[in-house]
Amino acid sequence: MNKEQVVFDSDEAAEYRTNLSGWVSRNGRYFGNDERAARYDGCTHTRCEDCGELIDRGRLICPKCNEARDIKRYNAMPKEEWDGEGMLYSDAADKYFSDWNGVEGFLEDEESTIESLRLIICEPQYLSLLDPSDYGCDSLAEDGELPDAVIDAIDKFNEVVKNAGAVSWYPGKKRVAT
Ligand SMILES: [Zn+2]
Repeated sequence: MNKEQVVFDSDEAAEYRTNLSGWVSRNGRYFGNDERAARYDGCTHTRCEDCGELIDRGRLICPKCNEARDIKRYNAMPKEEWDGEGMLYSDAADKYFSDWNGVEGFLEDEESTIESLRLIICEPQYLSLLDPSDYGCDSLAEDGELPDAVIDAIDKFNEVVKNAGAVSWYPGKKRVAT
């Protein structure tokens, strides 16, 4: 891969133009009719999509509106009683809890309320199984088949993986009924 070379004194490096019109950003870049792109290139701050507050360029909304959106999203989730299995996730604190004592301890330490944690019931994550019809297909001849011993080993491996159960948890789509 040869990177294209453009020499300083070549015709490609720059050209003299007359009668140019269009948007030029604070950085001197020309954007033609694209006012939005020119303004974005030249600015350091934009406005929050929701409330219009000034925010650093690169963000879409301010932290306050971001939290308001998080709360709205949370409140739209269906509620469910937690069966005590697995884990809970606090959307507000970005923290996982494995039991209710942990939740209560955290509430005491933070002097916070259960509602403000925005607890979500977690879903289990399992290890992926090997597919004997797919495994090794890059290495086998076109009509080749896996040796029987390998197929047996895959079956055994999958059995072990299934018995291992959940290896981690991720926030699901239901909030905890409190
Ligand atoms: Zn805002």
